[in-house]
Amino acid sequence: MEVLDRVSEHIDAPSWRVWFEGTRPVDLREDRLEISVPNSFAKEYIEGRFKGLLEEALDSALGAEDSSLIVSIEGPEARGVRRENGRNNDGNGGMDGAEVVRNARTPRPFKAKYTFDTFVIGAGNRFAHAAAMAVAETPGVVYNPLFIYGGVGLGKTHLLHAVGQYVEEQDPTSGIRYVTCENFTNDFINSVRDNAPLDFQRRYRENDVLLIDDIQFLEGKIETQEAFFHTFNALYEENKQIVITSDRHPKYIPTLEDRLVSRFEWGLVTDIQPPDLETRIAILRKKAMMDKLEVDDEVLTFIASKVSTNIRELEGALVRILAYSSLYGRQVSVPLAEEVLKDILLDAAYREIPVELIQHEVCRYFGVAKADLVGQSRSKPFAYPRQVAMYLCRELTDESLPKIGRAFGGRDHSTVMHATSKIANLINSDRDVFNQIHEITYQIKSKR
Ligand code: ADP
Ligand code: MG
Repeated sequence: MEVLDRVSEHIDAPSWRVWFEGTRPVDLREDRLEISVPNSFAKEYIEGRFKGLLEEALDSALGAEDSSLIVSIEGPEARGVRRENGRNNDGNGGMDGAEVVRNARTPRPFKAKYTFDTFVIGAGNRFAHAAAMAVAETPGVVYNPLFIYGGVGLGKTHLLHAVGQYVEEQDPTSGIRYVTCENFTNDFINSVRDNAPLDFQRRYRENDVLLIDDIQFLEGKIETQEAFFHTFNALYEENKQIVITSDRHPKYIPTLEDRLVSRFEWGLVTDIQPPDLETRIAILRKKAMMDKLEVDDEVLTFIASKVSTNIRELEGALVRILAYSSLYGRQVSVPLAEEVLKDILLDAAYREIPVELIQHEVCRYFGVAKADLVGQSRSKPFAYPRQVAMYLCRELTDESLPKIGRAFGGRDHSTVMHATSKIANLINSDRDVFNQIHEITYQIKSKR
C-alpha cells in the first residue's frame, strides 16, 4: 500500500480516485507486486498509463532494480460474468473510454525520469550528452548514426530515452521508435515465423528516429544483423536519425559484420566513462532533490566515495539507506550509511582479485606453466602471456607496480609499466587481442 501511496503523489486526485479506488494489493513476493482491480478496463488503463510509474515506486520502495507489477481482476468479470462493453461501468465510459483504450494499447516506451533535465553532466559523459542533445534538436542532421558506448549503469539508456522524449516534445507527430536489441531481434524472428517481412520493414523504416539500446546483443546473430543492416540503410538514406548504444566500441563486438562496424563509424562514436567523485555526489544530490529528500552532504559524499563504478548501484545505495532509516526510525547519518552498506563494502573487499588467480588463468588460457610465466625466458611464447598477465594485474587489482614486478620473478616496475602500455596499445589496435583480453578477464571474474 505504501507503494500506491507514493504513486498517488504523482497523479492528480480525480484520476487517482477513478482508477485506483477499489484497487488492492494481493501479493508481494520478492520483487513482484500483484494488485487487483475491479474490471479489465481499469486493468488496461493502469497497465497502459501507470505501470512504469508504479514499477519505479516499487523499485525504490524495495530497493530493487527491475520489479514488476501484475494487475489482476477481481469481481464479477473474474468470475466469468462479462460486461458487454467497457462503457456502462462506474462512470468511466463514454468518449474518453475510447481514448483511454487507445492509450493503453500504445504505452509510452520512455521512463518519465530519463530526460536531459535529470541527467547530471560530468567529465565522463559531457561529450555523449552534448552529442545526444544535438541529435535530439535536429534529428538526422548532425551526427548520424550516433553511437554511444560505455559500461553498465553509466547512463546510456537514460540518454537514449532523453533523446526520444525530447524529440517527442518538440514534435509530437514525429515517428520515434525505441527498442532494445532484444525487442528488435524478437520482432525480426516473429516476422520470419509469421511470414510478414513487409510488416517488419514498415514498422522499422517508417520512423523519423530509431533508438536501439544495447546493440552488443547482435553478437552472433547473423540473420538479425542482416535485417538490421537493411533497416539501417533504408533509414540512413532518408536522413532519418539513428541512435545506438552498446557496452563497447562496435569494433569489439565479436562477429559483428565489418560492414555494420563501418556504417556505425560513419557518424559519431562516443563513449561514456565512469563518473568522478564530484559527479557522483552531484548525481546523488539531484536524486535526493527529485525525490524531495533531505540528506546531508556528508552522507552523500560518503556513499559516493564507496560506490564508484555504476550509477545504478550508487542510487540503489542511497535508496537502501533511506529505506532502512524510515523502517527503523533512525536518522540518516554516516554511521547508519556505513552499517547499511556494510555488506556491499564487504562484498567489494571479498571480490578483490588475487594476483595468483590472474596468473593461473593466463597460464591456463595460453597453455604455459606458471614457472615459465614468472621465469626469466624472454622468448615470445612466454613473454607475451607474461605481459598480458601483468597488464591484467594492473587493470584488475590495486597492487603497485613494484609489487606486481616482484610477483613476476622479481622484475622491476619499469618492466611492468612497459608491458602494461604495450598490451593497452594492442587492445586498441587489434581486435583479436581485445577479444582475447576480454575472454581472459571474463574467466578471471567468474572464478573469484
Ligand atoms: P546503462 O544503460 O548505461 O546501463 P542507465 O541509463 O540504465 O545505464 O542508468 C542507470 C541509472 O543511473 C539510471 O537510473 C539513470 O537515471 C542513472 N544515471 C546514469 N547516468 C546519470 C547521470 N549522468 N545523471 C543522473 N542519473 C544518471
Ligand atoms: Mg541500458
